[in-house]
Amino acid sequence: MPSTLCSVPLCAERGGHAFPRNEKWKKQWIDAIKRDKWKPTAHSIVCQKHFKESDYLVETHRGTSTLHHRLRKGVIPSIFAWTKSPTLSAVRRESRLTCRKKLIENIEFKEKLALYE
Ligand SMILES: [Zn+2]
Repeated sequence: MPSTLCSVPLCAERGGHAFPRNEKWKKQWIDAIKRDKWKPTAHSIVCQKHFKESDYLVETHRGTSTLHHRLRKGVIPSIFAWTKSPTLSAVRRESRLTCRKKLIENIEFKEKLALYE
């Protein structure tokens, strides 16, 4: 089956995330992509370009470099051609999250080092 085109207007990406089965959540996605009087089919998808990095759960398996990107429960697509300039507070929040992630990585690295001492 050929991969489906993203349901977001102005977007031509293929492949992505299926709409949630949960009706309330699904409605929020439809509102977010600004498609009134439109209903997603079982094959409708929203591509990864419309989700923030923080919308994903990243799972790493010890001993391998395998990364699994899974959408968090309840996230709504938020990055669109019509929202190109994020608000300052959103940018600040993003950079804070990145800082915190770095900090955790550093702590984990130090713990690993400690094992060899
Ligand atoms: Zn898209």
